[in-house]
Amino acid sequence: MGKTLFDSPSFANHEGVHAVFDEKTGLRGIIAVHSTARGPAVGGTRMWNYASSAEALEDVLRLSKGMSYKNAVADLEMGGGKSVIIGDSRTQKTPELFQAFGRAVDTLGGRYYAAEDVGVSVADIAEARKVTPYVLGLSDGPEASGDPSPVTAEGVFRSTLTVARRLWKQDDLTGLTVALQGIGHVGGYLADKLHAAGAKLVMTDVNEALLSEVAARTNAEIVAPDVIYDVKADIYAPCALGATLNPQTLDRLTVKAVVGAANNQLATPDIGRALFERGVLYAPDYVINGGGIINVASELKARETGGAYDPQWVEGKLSRLMETLEEILERSAAEKRPTHEIADAIAEARINAARDQRAEQLKAA
Ligand code: NAD
Repeated sequence: MGKTLFDSPSFANHEGVHAVFDEKTGLRGIIAVHSTARGPAVGGTRMWNYASSAEALEDVLRLSKGMSYKNAVADLEMGGGKSVIIGDSRTQKTPELFQAFGRAVDTLGGRYYAAEDVGVSVADIAEARKVTPYVLGLSDGPEASGDPSPVTAEGVFRSTLTVARRLWKQDDLTGLTVALQGIGHVGGYLADKLHAAGAKLVMTDVNEALLSEVAARTNAEIVAPDVIYDVKADIYAPCALGATLNPQTLDRLTVKAVVGAANNQLATPDIGRALFERGVLYAPDYVINGGGIINVASELKARETGGAYDPQWVEGKLSRLMETLEEILERSAAEKRPTHEIADAIAEARINAARDQRAEQLKAA
């Protein structure tokens, strides 16, 4: 396993990879700490029925590195990490399991903070909180940041306006059609904002009851889930699944821009290049959906300063993130490079600068 781990391209210079186990509760998990150069590693905990521990390892490493990039690009004083619990979240969850997981997180002494992710709820995190302070995304208490979705949606909405200014030289969305895929927590808020800014919406979701409700209030046209890629629209907004930008969908999309909240939209990095070569502006997912992690970071900030959740601090970080998006789009045009490559370069530069600064400080001490 040692050989496989260090040789895997996903290893990506992780600072630490911790297998966690508890016999009594059946906990089997992995905590990956990619980088603490910018601060404690922060990233959610995913509970998933992985087919093997190798699959779980691959997933946690990929996601953990992704969090380093997302947190750096959002200019948060946080590094990147992620954790996975192997198991079926519908049948294998117990309060004791999450307490055992919390004890495992606690052993890292604050190098890693856990939060909710796929298969893990705020209630599960609250169980872990009983045994460790190193969790974020709580719903109770003065520092609690609550549901991050409205802030995520606000970031994606502002990104859509930024793109509209660049491509269509207009300050609102009048006359533009947005193909919106997924109207759950983020997509629902986003639909309202896009509608209010004058966009025509064509939307889909697998939840038909929710779809008719949101479509009615936003005057949207409804299409079947698979038809969303063929819609004649100006912008495609993926807010459901990952990897929807792939060789199959690429030839069907006729949009001029992709601006959505979903994580990992590009099936592979080559798709980002293909979009660029076709003249489609891709707003990098982990940049524009950073509002959620900014909201979570406010909780850590409040904890460290003994203060409360501060919406002004969140707004300051969100505005700064939008400036970073402008920089990415500007540089992509000037350097003739795909936007996702520029975003990665900015994140890497920030992480490396923090690492070098820390090394200097240690040398001086
Ligand atoms: P959610 O589960 O509330 O919403 C997802 C919606 O997509 C649901 O309504 C679901 O029915 C729908 N859906 C599922 N499969 C579909 C399909 N094949 N076609 C169309 N619709 C489908 O999730 P969310 O919190 O709104 O997050 C949406 C995306 O944004 C996810 O990829 C998530 O990782 C990402 N994201 C969310 C946040 C946040 O703050 N919630 C932050 C960053 C990124």
